[in-house]
Order: sequence, then structure tokens, then C-alpha cells
Amino acid sequence: MTALAHPLSTASWDRLRSLCGERGLDLEVIGSAVAFADRAHAGQFRRSGEPYVTHALEVAALVVDVGASTAMVAAALLHDTVEDAGVTLGEISAAFGDDVASMVDGCAKVAAVHPSAADAFAEADRLRRLFVALAADPRVVVVKLCDRLHNLRTIDALEPAKAARIGRETLAVHAPLAHRLGLGAIKAELEDRAFAVADPDGYDQVGQAIDELGGVHEWLEDARNRLGAHLAAAGVAGEVSGRVKHRWSVHRKAVRLGIEPGALHDLLGLRVVVPDVAACYVALAEVHRLWTPVDGRLKDYIDRPKLNAYQSLHTTVTGPAGRLLEVQIRTADMHAIAEHGAAAHHAYKHPGSEPRWVGRLLDLDADDVDDSAGDHRSDEVFVLSPKGDVITLPFGACVVDAAYAIHTDVGHRCVGAKLDGRLVPLHTRVTAGQRVEIVTGTRNGPAPEWLNWVVTSKARTRIRQFHARRAKERARADGRERLTRALRDVGLRLDDQATVVALVAAAGLGSIEDVAEAVAGGRIVPSTLVRRLAPDAEPEPVVDVDAPAPSRRGDDPSVAAVAGLPGVDVRLAGCCTPEPPVPLRGFVSAGGVVAHRADCATANAPDRAPGRVLAVHWIRADRSIVRLTLSAVPHPGLFAAIAAQAASAGADLLAVQRRPARADSPTAGASEVEVEVDVAVRPERRRAVRAALALVEGVRSLR
Ligand code: MN
Repeated sequence: MTALAHPLSTASWDRLRSLCGERGLDLEVIGSAVAFADRAHAGQFRRSGEPYVTHALEVAALVVDVGASTAMVAAALLHDTVEDAGVTLGEISAAFGDDVASMVDGCAKVAAVHPSAADAFAEADRLRRLFVALAADPRVVVVKLCDRLHNLRTIDALEPAKAARIGRETLAVHAPLAHRLGLGAIKAELEDRAFAVADPDGYDQVGQAIDELGGVHEWLEDARNRLGAHLAAAGVAGEVSGRVKHRWSVHRKAVRLGIEPGALHDLLGLRVVVPDVAACYVALAEVHRLWTPVDGRLKDYIDRPKLNAYQSLHTTVTGPAGRLLEVQIRTADMHAIAEHGAAAHHAYKHPGSEPRWVGRLLDLDADDVDDSAGDHRSDEVFVLSPKGDVITLPFGACVVDAAYAIHTDVGHRCVGAKLDGRLVPLHTRVTAGQRVEIVTGTRNGPAPEWLNWVVTSKARTRIRQFHARRAKERARADGRERLTRALRDVGLRLDDQATVVALVAAAGLGSIEDVAEAVAGGRIVPSTLVRRLAPDAEPEPVVDVDAPAPSRRGDDPSVAAVAGLPGVDVRLAGCCTPEPPVPLRGFVSAGGVVAHRADCATANAPDRAPGRVLAVHWIRADRSIVRLTLSAVPHPGLFAAIAAQAASAGADLLAVQRRPARADSPTAGASEVEVEVDVAVRPERRRAVRAALALVEGVRSLR
């Protein structure tokens, strides 16, 4: 057993160990992560006076609660070692492998994001995006949410202004992400603890409003007993509990509706947990027999689950003494999902398997944060992939919509589908909770009639794009054909480079493809164009065939971008005002990624934490950076071949490097190396680049 340096941490470790034992996690790995964290944080104490490692142990315990794997628990234990204890990622990777190291790296990068002076609420959306992009892995988001929760539990040690800032940031960034992941219990606790420090007066006001209702707890107890007795008499096996809506959600809702907190109808509630779905509806009928329902307040989230997989029946009734009361009815499974998220539930049902976190953390609007989000979301259905991923679709979506929601390529190659294991036609509409399995095969792209069935704009756009592209390809082939014939008449050939350059210049267009399209579209008559090139042509436009092909590089504005983080804005540092083509060095800092000149003194200051550095490149504005990781058998010409192939496929090569070696890792293969290739490429050329790199000698696989 791992002995800790400080006796104060022992209780936390005992608790974590028994939790991990119950969940069947690997205690040997976790024990060595505990020892590693204990050594790394030796002599460090939190403001609360606890040894630092206690924080890591508590965060790990929270992570276990939501259904973590062994690797995730190890990452939680090590989450502050890079940022706060000077450990390197190489050391973590050597001891615990690349997966754990990459999660810790994500934690270090996210740790650097803080909305400094800016208003967290105004920037909430951007901050959430940055947070999720830097985390790069939903598991890292979960670890950071648990980290934040423990920080809030111990926030009394902080001065009020700093605590208030952390509270605002939590309400704007962390709580919505917890909601998105379906972590109901963590979300509620994050919100109330953050509310208490972000707006102490508001927090007290809501507390007072609840107190002023008078005898709330006695009244709830009475209602609970009455309903319990009524259900028992009706033969329904149900556990009834009372609840007071948590303060932040009372506050939010009261502000949104413009009323006093005490006037909310769902402030007080009862929750009934029953054995199965059928019993939910029986219990609902009994609730409505006991108390008069309020019209229009019945919500069936069992038939139409919320986005985050939440399911329940909600009804509002006039309870004892004429006071309104919200009753939520659900099964034990639904309750577990509501409190701990779908992933935890999955882990509980399938011990030992890696939970799959819902990856769609970003499709999140402000309304969705509220408890009543389902009210606005009832026109959505959610279905499950065979692996248990949640796919959100609008009501009325068909199987083809689901295929495109998974991946464009899956949509294009979709030949059939199974709903709950049964083969169905492609126009079949999906319904909530179905398991959707898409069957792909070799097909010649999407059929145009699919446009009659699909309802999502993604599917519609992708199908149209596919056919537009195909029409364009046909037009180009047709145009080339006609150009070839016209050239032949004057003794020239389209496969001669000088002729092509002259042709493009004479047409005043950018490329031979553009010329071919213009010919196919009737905007250019081939014989007229070609006549200008013929040796005995009239003298008018003189075309210099020795001139280089018109380069568009100079016209395209350059922008700075980060490898691996598409969509994250990069600001240029004010201190060194970099301009292309000076090399850049990126840092995660207050609210964003900032690019400095690589030799900037500020950027190279010794207090910069290594986890914050990102590779930033100049790229042309119409391109984005793609990072490909190749497994290859090394040979002397490998990097040169990669560079040549990337260029031939139309990509700008930015960096080729071996991935950091996993020093002592027993899994490191001796014969293959992993090579990271960063290229800037136009979106439509991505696949061509992948295909080109796959052909490089020695390359075994590519991802
Ligand atoms: Mn921490």
C-alpha cells in the first residue's frame, strides 16, 4: 500500500482506494499515481492548510463517482503536477503512458485559461469553446469540472474578490459544461457554491425568499408522507423524496420570468423513483388522483428525453394547503443518469469498460443552461450509436440524417440502417432512444432523392455539395475535352506546361480548371481563346509564355493558426507585433491563444509553464492546419518523402517531427516511429493529402 508523506492525506486516500476497489479499477496503477503525485507535491500546501496532494485525491474521488476509467483517475491524481509542481509530460508518459500524459497536458493547457478582467458572462461562449478545444478530450473536461468543484468546496480560504471571479467563471463556463455532460449533481453543486461567492447578496435573497414561504420543510415532509401512503395503498412501489429547487436555478428562472423567487411554481418538489417505465405512468395517474394537476405543466421527458439524456415525467399539482408542487417521476436508472450522467451509468452497468463521454460539448446555447431547457427542446429526439454515443436530431429526422450526423463519409456511403437491430429503409424516421446502426458500403455517393427525406441542414448541405462537386468535375472534364480539340487544330497540346500557362494567362483566370469551367459554362469560346496562342495569330494580346504562373500566394492574407485547434482564434501579441513570415510561438493566456515572435523576450520569460506553449504557424487564409500522425518504419529518406508527397498534393508543409519517445514504456515498438505532420491545406484537398502521405515508403498507418 502506498504510504503518504503527510498523515492528513491518509483519510482521503483510504476513501479513494475503497471507491476504486468497488468499481474494479486497477489499484496498482492508481497507487503508483498517488505516490507520484505525493512526491511531486511534497512540501506544497493549499491555502486551506491541507497538504496539496489531498486536493488531487479528492478530485480523483469525484472523478470515480462519475464513472471514470483507471487512466482517468490517474490523470486526475496528476492533474496539477505539470502546472504546479514542475513535472514534465515526458516523466508522466514514461511512468503512466501516453494516454494519461495527454490528459494531464490538456489539464495544464486548460488551467491557463482565465477570463482576466473581462466579464466572464459576456465571453462565456468563447471561453467554453477555448476550454473544450484545449482540453481536446471530454475526459479532460470531466477532470477539470471535478477539479473546479473541489476548489469551490475549499474556496473559503480565498479573498472575496478572487473567489467572486472564480464563481462567475464557474457559472459561465463550468456549470454549462457539466449540464451538457449530464452531470446533474456536480452541476447543481457547482452552481450553488459559485452563486454563493459570485453574488453573495443574491444568494441570500433566494434563501430568504424560500424561508419566507414558511414551514417549507415541514410542509414538504407532510406532502411526502401523503403521497407515499397514497402510492402504497394503490400498490405502486415508489420511493418518495422532497426537494427544494437549488438556489442558482431559482435565481435564474425568477430573473428570466421577471418574478419574485417565492412565486415560482416549481420551487418545491417531490421526486418519486419507481422500478420501471410502466410504473412511472401508473404513479403519474395516482399523483393526479391525489392532487389536481395544473393545466399545461405535464412534461414527458421519458418519451422525449433532454439533450443530455435526462429522462423523467414532470407534473405540477396543487398540493396540500393549496400550495403548488412539482412532482418528478422516474426509474432508478433514469435517476442515476440525472445525477451522475449517462457515462457513469454506463460504467456502472458495464464494469471495466471505458465510459464514452458525450463529445458534443459545444452545441450549447444560453437557454440550455436552465432547468427548463427541455421546454425549448421538445422538438428534438436523441438516439444512440452502437457504441452508446448520443446523437441529437430534430424531430422527424430519418436514418440518412443520423448517418450524416455521425460523419459526412458515413452519410455518403450509407446503404442501409438498423434501428434497434432491425433492418429498415433509408427514409425511416427515427424515434427517441432508438439504437441506430448505419450500414455502409460502396455506393456512388448520395442519391438525389434523399433530399426529399432529410430534415437536417447538415445532411441537405452535404448531399447538395456532393452533387455540385460532381457536376463541377463533369463540367471541367467537358471543358478540357473541348480545349484539347481546339488546341489540336492549331498544333498545340493541353499536356504541355507552357501552353497551359499561356492559356490561363490569355483567359485572365487563375488556373486551367477555371478555364475549363468557363468553357463548359459557355463563357469562353475555345477556338477564340486558342487563336490568341497560335503562332500566326493577330498580334493583339501578347502572351509571355516564359512568365511564371500567376502566384496567388502574395494576394492571400496570412493568418496565424494553431495545429490541432481549428476554429480557435489566435491573437497577435502586442509586445512584439509579429508579421509574416517570422516564426511564431503561441501561448495560452488570459482568454485565448496569443502568438508572439519566437524570439520575443516576453514569450521566453522563464516563468512560462511548458504546458502553455503551442505551435503556431502562418498559413494562407483559405487554408487550415491539419495534423496527421503517421506510424512508419524509419529510413533515411522518410522526412524528405513526406515533404515531397505533401507538396505534390497541394499542401504547405509546416512541421514534421517524431513524437516524443515514450522512454521506458514497454509498449514502445522498436521498429516503428510515430511522426507528426502538420500541413496547411484547403479543406477540399484534405483527403488527397492523406492519400498522398499513405503512399510514402515505410508508412504503415495514418490517423
Ligand atoms: Mn487542481
